[in-house]
Amino acid sequence: MEKETDVIIVGTGAAGLFCALQLPEGKEVTVITKDEVENSDSFLAQGGICVLRSEDDFDGYFEDTMKAGHYKNNRDSVAMMIRSSGEIIDLLLKYGVEFERRNGELVYTREGGHSRPRILFHEDITGKEITGKLLAQAKSRGNITIYEHTEMIDLLCKNNICYGIAAVDSQGEILPVRAEHTVLACGGIGGLYRHSTNFAHLTGDGIALALRHKVQLQDVNFVQIHPTTLYSEKPGDFLFPSLSGEKERFFIMQKWSGLWTSFCQETW
Ligand SMILES: Cc1cc2nc3c(=O)[nH]c(=O)nc-3n(C[C@H](O)[C@H](O)[C@H](O)COP(=O)(O)OP(=O)(O)OC[C@H]3O[C@@H](n4cnc5c(N)ncnc54)[C@H](O)[C@@H]3O)c2cc1C
Repeated sequence: MEKETDVIIVGTGAAGLFCALQLPEGKEVTVITKDEVENSDSFLAQGGICVLRSEDDFDGYFEDTMKAGHYKNNRDSVAMMIRSSGEIIDLLLKYGVEFERRNGELVYTREGGHSRPRILFHEDITGKEITGKLLAQAKSRGNITIYEHTEMIDLLCKNNICYGIAAVDSQGEILPVRAEHTVLACGGIGGLYRHSTNFAHLTGDGIALALRHKVQLQDVNFVQIHPTTLYSEKPGDFLFPSLSGEKERFFIMQKWSGLWTSFCQETW
């Protein structure tokens, strides 16, 4: 069996679903995931999402972001992320995402390296709230079709042009999917680690295939490590404590981040 589509998107996390929703409704969009749609790291993210609240915060927001990235960040990307944040939050609200409100007004908190409160959140399950609503929107669109348990195994390329992917469907059949545009939104490499907070099936497939087809990659050595996980003997099952209040979060972060930072400084 073969399939033809306008756009093939590999991955049903926040990146893949958001991309699908931005494409014109006149285009046929096919989205695949190698597991179930709810099983992506995007559903696991607990913390909130930052936004530029007013122009006078641009410089502070920019500096906080650069500092958190040890000034290795691409300045243009950081500026673009900050500039587009308001528009993206408006879109998420339009898609039905509910952020914490007090007296009807959005509540902003502080997280990570942010020096000012510019984080919107939904309890301790912001990722689930955002990705769940993106998924509901995608399912309601007539031009978007989602296939679960369908795994990309290669890119279809000729003369350095990508014209789709090869996938294995839920019946174990190899399925060439020809497309005008191919989007890899396959998430990270966390599942490759024996112990990880990531889903085990997130094994950097997009990165591996890009390398095989000589697509240039950048900063693949940057891996985020959670300093607040609890160790478990069970492979792939690090416990990520759910921290409901800022007080608890602050206490644990302060206690363990300090130890972690000195560990990193001494070891690397
Ligand atoms: C426990 C935890 C907590 C986190 N907390 C936060 C937080 O508070 N704030 C924050 O900003 N970020 C947080 N993150 C990081 C954040 O979740 C990720 O950076 C983000 O969700 C990545 O989104 P994505 O769409 O790129 O990838 P993912 O959500 O990982 O989705 C990848 C998709 O690609 C599919 N896929 C992969 N390979 C293939 C293949 N070969 N064929 C078909 N499909 C494939 C997967 O099945 C999946 O659907 C957290 C991560 C974890 C694990």
